Amino acid sequence: MSKRDYYEVLGVKKGVDEGELKKAYRKKAMKFHPDRNSDDPSAPEKFKEASEAYEVLSDSSKRNAYDQFGHQGVESSGFGSHSGEGFNDIFSDIFGDVFGGGDPFGRRQRSNRGSDLQYSMTISLEDAVRGVTEKIAVPALESCDVCSGTGAEKGSSPITCSGCNGAGQVRMQQGFFSVAQTCRQCSGSGQVIKDPCKPCKGKGRIERRKTLSVKIPAGVDTGDRIRLAGEGEAGPNGGQTGDLFVQIKVLPHDVFERDGRHLYCEVPISFVDATLGGEIQIPTLDGKVKIKIPEGTQTGKLFRLKGKGVDAIRGGSKGDLLCRAVIETPQNLTKEQKELLQNLQSSFNKSDQQTPLSSEWFDKVKSFFESK
Ligand SMILES: [Zn+2]
Ligand SMILES: [Zn+2]
Repeated sequence: MSKRDYYEVLGVKKGVDEGELKKAYRKKAMKFHPDRNSDDPSAPEKFKEASEAYEVLSDSSKRNAYDQFGHQGVESSGFGSHSGEGFNDIFSDIFGDVFGGGDPFGRRQRSNRGSDLQYSMTISLEDAVRGVTEKIAVPALESCDVCSGTGAEKGSSPITCSGCNGAGQVRMQQGFFSVAQTCRQCSGSGQVIKDPCKPCKGKGRIERRKTLSVKIPAGVDTGDRIRLAGEGEAGPNGGQTGDLFVQIKVLPHDVFERDGRHLYCEVPISFVDATLGGEIQIPTLDGKVKIKIPEGTQTGKLFRLKGKGVDAIRGGSKGDLLCRAVIETPQNLTKEQKELLQNLQSSFNKSDQQTPLSSEWFDKVKSFFESK
């Protein structure tokens, strides 16, 4: 198969500088990356072609040879023994930040760590404020204790895979690149089990439900995560266990609304209490509290109860409880009551002193119309 011109492959001009070249390669490689083109069978080939072009053009001595002698110049100059390691370096150099250092050819990093688990926990506001210990049942893969996680029958042990000699991957020659692929015989583990352990069917891990006690600290809020190190899934082949993350969701409350460390509620106050002043009861999460309200309290006045809010989980002082006064208009009055109110109404002297809000409001409305 005759090869395309490397400059043409990357869509760059001959004297292209290093930065432009890298940019062009990155663009092509992103376009044809096998992870993004699983339904295009020609993508891996195009991806390799671009990688190969970049490999040569980004190396000044190879580029010189290519510029002078074309494809032959690079192939005859001893690059055929290329191990593929350099290729990998380019790859992580360019993609380290995009694909998390993953490998485009599916070569698996041999990690034996078990998966992390996530558990969603819904708790009441009271529990979030006071803290609580909850028991949860989590399904988890635990290391099989019959075979100690090896997956091999008692008395036997896994043997080195003959397909890859224990490396977990096999290399395939592609032109002057060698490309590593996960070994099919052992799925990359480098070992095969001849006599599988019966209880775990050779997997080395068994699914069990376990009950955990989770201590939820006072002050947690929706979105907080509690990490239980080592309570996730057991790793394959006796590997390290993953973590369990408990994701907290706090339910809405009938009386209190939460805003970070502060709690907020609305308290209806009779118009008589609001007018004359007096004592009213305010609910807190620790029970009811009596507070004094001054004469002439208006709707919207906030009463702050210091330290009756929520613990600051990340340090700092405890929040407050803020109660907003809502003056209640009485309904369904008797004839007598209405008369009383009418008498009261006509007794008002319409001065700023007795109805400050209305006086101020009417003044504003008046100047608004006069300015028109
Ligand atoms: Zn077992
Ligand atoms: Zn193998």
